[in-house]
Amino acid sequence: MRVLKFGGTSVGSAERMQALVSLINDDVPKIVVLSAMSGTTNHLVEIANALYAKENDKAKHLIDALEKKYFDVIKQLYKSENSLTKAKELIESHFNYLRSFTMDMFTVNEERAILAQGELLSTAMFHYHLEEINIDSVLLPALNFMRIDENEEPDMKYIEQNAKTELANYPNKKLFITQGYICRNAFGEIDNLKRGGSDYTATIIGAAIQSDEIQIWTDIDGMHNNDPRIVDKTHPIAELSFDEAAELAYFGAKILHPTCILPAQMRNIPVRLLNTMQPQAKGTVITSKSTGDGTKAVAAKDGITAISIKSGRMLLAYGFLRAVFEIFERYKTPIDMITTSEVAVSLTIDNTTNLDAITNELKEFCSVKTEKDLTIVCIVGNFTAEKQGYAFKIFDALKNIPIRMISYGGSPNNVSILVDSKLKKDTLVALNKGLF
Ligand code: ASP
Ligand code: MG
Repeated sequence: MRVLKFGGTSVGSAERMQALVSLINDDVPKIVVLSAMSGTTNHLVEIANALYAKENDKAKHLIDALEKKYFDVIKQLYKSENSLTKAKELIESHFNYLRSFTMDMFTVNEERAILAQGELLSTAMFHYHLEEINIDSVLLPALNFMRIDENEEPDMKYIEQNAKTELANYPNKKLFITQGYICRNAFGEIDNLKRGGSDYTATIIGAAIQSDEIQIWTDIDGMHNNDPRIVDKTHPIAELSFDEAAELAYFGAKILHPTCILPAQMRNIPVRLLNTMQPQAKGTVITSKSTGDGTKAVAAKDGITAISIKSGRMLLAYGFLRAVFEIFERYKTPIDMITTSEVAVSLTIDNTTNLDAITNELKEFCSVKTEKDLTIVCIVGNFTAEKQGYAFKIFDALKNIPIRMISYGGSPNNVSILVDSKLKKDTLVALNKGLF
């Protein structure tokens, strides 16, 4: 069984949904994971924000506007009166559900229920479309088998058991449609895998059913060697290892959800990144194999804050890092990059929710300086220690860029540098010139 995930733009209009059919209509048994139509989840976030703010009129207005969009789509999507009537009823029921929230108390639970509507709509609409053109498919409700635990991590055991049970109900079927992004939490409430989480759904399902391949279909022809929005002349990378792809996704390559590599890597399932607009293009294949030496790609992550910490007391140097890390752990704030000297450590974070509390605690035993608006530029490839010259090439390319921090040697796949965000473009362009 194969798992194919299509993102928001791939189901973003009636035409896109119709074009999608040719990509899935063959004899290979498959589970198709769909995102919400592009723009929908953002729109639902706005509705939820209006409801939090008790702006009921604004919420109503936003709901009406989104509903109208969906009515326009179904008019183009279906030919028969029968399908159109069914789709109308579907849309009315989901939007009346959204309207029901305007009266009541609004908490994070209601917000999550609202955010789930986009994927519920897109999958049902696509399923009706397949029905109308006589392609047999089963709509599998993700809420029946996707679950996260108390730590908001996928509950793999539960998912494996329940996905298999769901599939076993249809022994003679070979095309299944399900929702990306949405799931239940440890309390059985509707929840989600965070924005962009449909990729994660696909690799979790792929791992759960031990799929032979997971395909992520988007609107770009694979993972590129640099950010195509910023740098001219980028190219797709044919092959990446799981570790390389994870570093790139985490450090800014927008094409993949950062944590989605892990489930595939654990079960050693190839992940192929493909382009719906150019289905013949080779894209990128991500496997356990590490191929080629040297630099493969560069990615950048903005919104980074650096914290420089200096211990006042040399004698306590051996306990210093533990004391520092413990504070970040307590505030559940992940550290991205780190460099140390005997008495000082500089590190970076991107989640600044608890920055004040963290710095206040640090100040009890050291001096602290913070700096905002920084960018991590991550250079990914195969840099094994026996081969010389990689560091030279990278830093030669960057000879005119002031660098704030360097991290090299943490893994054989990554060199990270920290720069002022104003210099991000110059940095990416310089690396493109020097390395590719
Ligand atoms: N619809 C969700 C979002 O926009 C999930 C996804 O598309 O991956 O974030
Ligand atoms: Mg995405």
